[in-house]
Amino acid sequence: MAMHSNQNYSLKSSNSFNIKASCSRIYFPSSLAELQQLPDLSAGNTSDKFYILGEGSNTLFVESQAPIIIQPKFNGISILEQDDRFVVTVGAAENWHDLVCFCLEQGIYGLENLALIPGSVGAAPVQNIGAYGVEFADFCQEIQWYEFASKTLQSLTKQACRFAYRDSIFKQERYNKGLITQVTFNFPKAWQANLSYAGLDILAKDSTAKQVMAQVIALRSSKLPDPKELPNAGSFFKNPIVNDADFAQLQQKYPKIPHYPQKNGEIKLAAGWLIDQAGLKGFRHGAVGVHQQQALVLVNYGSDLGADIISLAKYIQRKVAAKFSVSLIPEVRMITHKGERSFSSLSDSNPIEDINSIRGNRDD
Ligand SMILES: Cc1cc2nc3c(=O)[nH]c(=O)nc-3n(C[C@H](O)[C@H](O)[C@H](O)COP(=O)(O)OP(=O)(O)OC[C@H]3O[C@@H](n4cnc5c(N)ncnc54)[C@H](O)[C@@H]3O)c2cc1C
Repeated sequence: MAMHSNQNYSLKSSNSFNIKASCSRIYFPSSLAELQQLPDLSAGNTSDKFYILGEGSNTLFVESQAPIIIQPKFNGISILEQDDRFVVTVGAAENWHDLVCFCLEQGIYGLENLALIPGSVGAAPVQNIGAYGVEFADFCQEIQWYEFASKTLQSLTKQACRFAYRDSIFKQERYNKGLITQVTFNFPKAWQANLSYAGLDILAKDSTAKQVMAQVIALRSSKLPDPKELPNAGSFFKNPIVNDADFAQLQQKYPKIPHYPQKNGEIKLAAGWLIDQAGLKGFRHGAVGVHQQQALVLVNYGSDLGADIISLAKYIQRKVAAKFSVSLIPEVRMITHKGERSFSSLSDSNPIEDINSIRGNRDD
């Protein structure tokens, strides 16, 4: 059977920023045979003219024209119960939060701290999604991967995926070389609530997984805007990581700076705090802005243009760099008509003027 595909497809409802963009063609492969029908994507130039789309909750369409889109439609969940564990295999197109709920309903625990993260199961390994002290990698056993060049399915062990903070092999060596069709999780039956993270530490030590999930949902709902009501893509920037010497200087100047020492000796900073301290929490420019409650989230009040978000993000980046000499790097993926591009390579067609410095000049 021929694979389902569409031409001149609107992506407005397929990205959580609600940006108006469309693609000349979108493919919806749902089996190996259909994947093998995709046009040759391994050849030189074409490799940067397509984009693999899940639910678009970590995606910014920068221009009104998007490249060719592949949206995998692999569905289904299967559970294998062993003496000491559950092995759960899930199609890439399943919704992440629905999976978390489903597992808890089945008495399979572990994902409760990751409740309410938008998006598909297939995208979760890509940036190794994480929240409230838990990350995807903690329960990953294996990834099923379709390689464009050989047109075959392969199994990648957790180790082969090289998971790190918001990173994996899918953003590195395997970037654009194939796509994830299925994820296999390993949930040990010996479960213990992970309550280490601020906000969860108020729960009793013997809390059930459902109680943890309820608290995570309450915390997230109080801080993060629901993209259906106020379009956004969650944390726009990654938390920057600085070396010891740079951190010492920062801490001297800003003794209250939140910081999280990493295993390798580097220090992770809170991007939201830096943006807040730069005076930008709640900042609004035209139809886009910085969220009132959470400065790390950029929100779209009604713009059709990805370029408006880019201008805002570049403005934030400039302000934070000027104040802290720290460079903020977006977590969100930037998609032009030619495919993904780095944030630094994108031009700012309509830069936001610095109101403070204009005022400052006038006062002088
Ligand atoms: C309100 C809100 C809160 C959020 N909170 C968090 C959070 O707490 N923690 C966190 O980590 N993230 C968070 N995010 C970001 C987002 O939920 C995750 O990045 C999620 O994994 C994106 O899923 P998606 O299907 O929408 O991905 P998309 O945006 O469609 O794609 C994201 C990336 O994955 C790739 N991709 C998608 N599917 C596949 C596939 N099958 N095979 C290979 N590559 C694929 C895409 O090419 C792209 O590079 C939040 C987002 C929002 C809107």
